[in-house]
Parts: sequence; C-alpha cells; structure tokens
Amino acid sequence: MTYFCSFRKRDNMSKRYTITAALPYTNGPIHIGHLAGVYVPADIYARYQRLTRNDVAFVCGSDEHGVPITIKAKKEGVSPQDVVDKYHAIIKKSFEDFGITFDNYSRTSAQIHHETASEFFLELYKKGEFIEEVTEQLYDEEAKQFLADRFVIGTCPKCGNEEAYGDQCEKCGTSHNATDLINPKSAITGNAPTLKETKHWFLPLDKHEDFLKEWILKGHKKDWKPNVYGQVKSWIDDGLRPRAVTRDLDWGIPVPVEGGEGKVLYVWFDAPIGYISATKEWAEREGKDWEPYWKNENTKLVHFIGKDNIVFHCIIFPSMLKAEGSYILPDNVPANEFLNLEGNKLSTSKNWAVWLPEYLEDFPDKQDVLRYALTANAPETKDNDFTWKDFQARNNNELVAIFGNFINRVVVLTNKYYNGIVPEPSDYSQVDEETLAAVKAYPDVIASSIERYRFREASQELMNLARLGNKYLADEEPWKVIKEDEARTKTIMFVALQIASALATISEPFLPFTSEKLKSILSHSALDTESSWEDISTKDVLLSAGHQIGKAELLFNKIEDKDIQAQLDKLEASKKANEAANKAAEPQKEEITFDDFTKLDLRVGTIIEAEKMPKAKKLLVLKVDTGIDTRTIVSGIAESFTAEEVIGKRVTVLVNLAPRKLRGVESEGMILMTESPEGKLVFVNPDANQDVANGLQIS
Ligand SMILES: [Zn+2]
Repeated sequence: MTYFCSFRKRDNMSKRYTITAALPYTNGPIHIGHLAGVYVPADIYARYQRLTRNDVAFVCGSDEHGVPITIKAKKEGVSPQDVVDKYHAIIKKSFEDFGITFDNYSRTSAQIHHETASEFFLELYKKGEFIEEVTEQLYDEEAKQFLADRFVIGTCPKCGNEEAYGDQCEKCGTSHNATDLINPKSAITGNAPTLKETKHWFLPLDKHEDFLKEWILKGHKKDWKPNVYGQVKSWIDDGLRPRAVTRDLDWGIPVPVEGGEGKVLYVWFDAPIGYISATKEWAEREGKDWEPYWKNENTKLVHFIGKDNIVFHCIIFPSMLKAEGSYILPDNVPANEFLNLEGNKLSTSKNWAVWLPEYLEDFPDKQDVLRYALTANAPETKDNDFTWKDFQARNNNELVAIFGNFINRVVVLTNKYYNGIVPEPSDYSQVDEETLAAVKAYPDVIASSIERYRFREASQELMNLARLGNKYLADEEPWKVIKEDEARTKTIMFVALQIASALATISEPFLPFTSEKLKSILSHSALDTESSWEDISTKDVLLSAGHQIGKAELLFNKIEDKDIQAQLDKLEASKKANEAANKAAEPQKEEITFDDFTKLDLRVGTIIEAEKMPKAKKLLVLKVDTGIDTRTIVSGIAESFTAEEVIGKRVTVLVNLAPRKLRGVESEGMILMTESPEGKLVFVNPDANQDVANGLQIS
C-alpha cells in the first residue's frame, strides 16, 4: 500500500464547501452516463466532506429553459411547462432513489431563480459589462422566428460535423454563434434561413481573456484534470469572442432591460446561476445565510460536470462571476469524459441507454451495485465503456465475494460464538498489530484519492480494505482456532469486528445503502458517538468488548447470467429497431389516376384453412373466405407463420388479380402483407376491435 501525505486539515476547523452538480436538462429521464459522469462522483465527494465534518452545500436542480424543451413541447402538442413538470418529477425521483444527497434540488423555473438571474443580468448591465448590438441573426421566414441554438443545424466550422447545433457542436465540443455555421438549416421547417436584424446583449469574452489565462492557464496547471485544462487551453489559444447572452424566444427568463421585450436570457447564461438560486432557496429553508457559500474567499467551490459543459463552467460562467465582482471562482471543475454502453455512444434518440427508472425495476434494491460498477469504471480521464458483463463481475467477484463474504463471516461467527457480543481481546499478535495499523491508514489513502477527484482509485482502495479483512480471517482461521484456543479466537474476532466497523463508516460515500445496512447490523446507533472518518485513524477501538451486534443479513446477492442476458437482449432489440428506423423508405412509385385505383378489388376476408406446400420453404396454401366465395390462395408467408397460426386470421385480399399457378396449385388472389423491423411478415388486416364482415370492399 502506498502512503500519501494527508490532504486534510488536522485541526478541528471545518472548511466550507459549495458543491454543484450539472443541472440536468429537463427533456427526458436520466441514464447511467449522467450518473457515472456527474452525480455519483459529486455525491461521493459531498458525503465524504460531510463525514469529515466539513460544512457542505451540495446543490443541483432541473435546467428548464432553452430551445430543446420548446421543440419537444411543440412535437408533443403540450406546453413547455408540461414538459418540464413531467421530467422534473422523474429526474428528482431518480436522484432520491440512487441516494444522491443534494441539500437542495431546485429548478430554474422557480421564482427565486428568475429573480436571481434577472438581478445578475441587471448588475452586469449596470456595470457596462455587456456589448449591446444590433446584428443580423438567422431567421426562418416561414416559421416567422429567429433561429438560435438548436433551432438551427449546420456544418461545424471547426470539425466539419454536418449536424452541429447553433450554439455548440456535440462532436468536437466547440461552442460558437449560430451565424458561424456553414450551410445552416432551420430545424423547424428545414428551410435555409435568411438574415434579419435584431438587438442582443453580448458578453465580451475577449475582454476576460487575460484574466482567464492568468487564473486557469497559470494558476490551475497543476491541480485541474489534464482533460479539462487541455480543452480550456485550446479555446483560449484560439482566441475568445463576444457571446450573445440573450435570445429571441418566448420560453425563459425575460430580459429585464429596455429593449428586451420578447427576448429571454440565453439558457447557458441563466442555468449556472441556478447553482446560486438553489443555494439561496436552501439557505432560506434552513435559516442560514447563503452569501458565505458564494462570496467568502475560504469557501471551496467545486463544479461536477461532463466534458460537454467545460466551456460554460470554465470560461463563460467564471467570466460572468468575475464581471459581477462579488463572487468567488471555482476551485476545481473535475469534468469527466463520456461513458459508452457496450461499445457504442449512449444515445437518447436511439434508446441506447440504461435508464435509471428501468434499472431499478430490473434490479430492485441494487442501487449500490450500479454506483459501485460505475465508479470502479468511471470515465475520469478518457471515455470508458460500461458492459453488463463487467457489472456482473464487479458484483459477483468484488461486492459479493470480498466485501459481503467478509462481513457475513464476521457477523455469523460473532453470533455463533458469543451471541453477538463483541468479545474481550487478549494480547495482539504481530499480524493483529499490522492489520489494525493498516486499517488506520485507509482513511488518509482514500481521502487523498477523493481530494484529487480520483474516485475509481478511491473505490478500489475501499475494496482493498474489505480484502484485508477477508484475508485476515482466511489466514487466522477462527473456525479452527476455536477448537484449541478460545482466548485467541476472541482476539481474532475482536480485530475482525474493528475492520467491519471501519468498513461500515468508510463505505458510506460509495455504497450508502450498504453502509446503512451494515451500521444497523453492527448496531452503530448504540455507540456513544456517530463514527466519523477520522475516528478510524485516531481511535484504537471502534467497537468495544461487550457491544451487542445484530443478526447477519446478506449485503449483496449474486447476479445470474440470465439477468445479464435479459439486459443484452433489450439492447439488441434497440439496435434492431434503430436499423429498421434508419432503413430508407422506398421511393414513391409513379403516379396513378383514381380510375387506376378503383380497378383494384380489395375485400375483407378470413383464412379458414391452411397447410404447408410440400417441398416449398416459403409457401402456405390457404383457403380464404372472401365473402364472395371460398377460394385457394398460395401465399409466401411460411417463413413467418406456421399453418396453425394463421387459421382464423382476418386479412385484406386483392380478389381480382388474374389467377396464376404456383407449384401446380392455382392461386386466386393475393393477401396484403408488410414487414416488421425484424423482417417478419405482418398482416395488413381490419382493426380487430371492429366487427367487419367478410366481403366488404376496401376503398
Ligand atoms: Zn465540431
């Protein structure tokens, strides 16, 4: 084991932390990529800071403005408020379900946020921090609407991606103005936009370039993650330009100055201010003062985000805070890279994702397993892949076989030998001394990883502590020793119980549900004080002799192959559906007249008999009641249906098709079919709920 110098302060002064997690955009539920990239690491960090008795405000909220929500509302024929109300509730519940301990989860449609963002804008306006300019912006003549952000799609001027949005290219991460796009097209009508004059307020980022160079490029070269630092450096090196912070849109926070009628704040201007409003809302509720959390030099502000948000949190928001003048700047922005799923990019539109509500339906009470698998494989320095096989292995080989196994043996043996009472130890052996010393070192080792935002490493050290316990029991074999040396057995079990107690406390940031269960098994609530992170290093005894623990309960269960296969099947179905959706529809055939159409005599019928055509793979010989008569039709559907399956089927029949012989059988008509995404034939038939008689014409 490596020993790191302690990053924690040794005195009892607690430090103030304002921890923010990216505001999820409220146009859909959240998936494992969001959890891995932002919310689990942020929660581990916040829980750890609370355990070390620091003063923490951990805030987040729904990001409810912007163009994509208005597009979704239009598509679904509802109001933007309906869209955000629906997903705000779903997202908030997912966070609660997965034990993300926000002190406040707010929303940007809240009045306190509208006020805070308006005031912030006004303050910059009064200070003359904006450029007010009438410029030509993209306009859709048909939709009679200015095209900003996602209302316009075009070629990225930097990387050539043909599907870049007006404010950002999702492929290379570049943030730009809509007028920078090459070959722009309206996302509403598909038309090429025209240019029309409109007034907007711009934040002159170029004016803040020197400050950003000094603060980030010089000041944070060592402590910011290389992926974050590198992206910021490349933007600054490219040269920064003024960015419009207002939009011609009717959904959002109205621009609170003269000439701002019919315009709103750009969603990326108001969203980060959401962290401030969420803190205010929390402080009001708790009877605290919010200002120290944002304005006191001794507060450490940390933004947890995904890599697509780096420009907004490292360049735009800090420039806004600096321009306002009374706020602190982030101490760190530990952005993660992206998580892929089974080798492919997570995608909402392609349904290539594991949605949190669905996960909990399939794996009830296994929140910690997902938290652990995502942390152990977190995309901290590069994009990473989530696979269901790895998920299963993390559960079965680590959580069950190491952590769960150790705890189970300790608790079962303590109950068996001593009725659940922690035994009195005798003299420690050298192994005992070394083991207990190693346990005491873990809080510092794990803290050092967490303080450097290395959560994967931290989670592996946690597992190493469980491994240490497991090995100690396996080497000391109390189940053998008890036959010859009762005093020694008591000492072994005493040592093992100390390790179990350390695990209960130290696992809390990573496995909060398990930690709670384990604390309850070990009756931590009966202890004089709630154990803190430091206690593990400083106290010689965590569970004293005579302390009564509870009965054993399994902390983790094995995940079977069939459960993993079911998840893989689900993804395979998504893939097939996507392939089918992407299949280009056949081009329209040559135009026909109405007279041409009326020549077709289509009737409703019922298949009354069916048998396989001998020696023909594809053909079924059917007897069909057409209402006019009962006739024979040979149909090429045998690869999709058995004869038994189709008897009784309601069908649509073309009855006046000239008869033709197929393998010697005369076929008198044709049954209308189409094809499912999987290539299976599907009957085109009358609505099963409607009573339609055979022989009725279709026109
Ligand atoms: Zn690009």
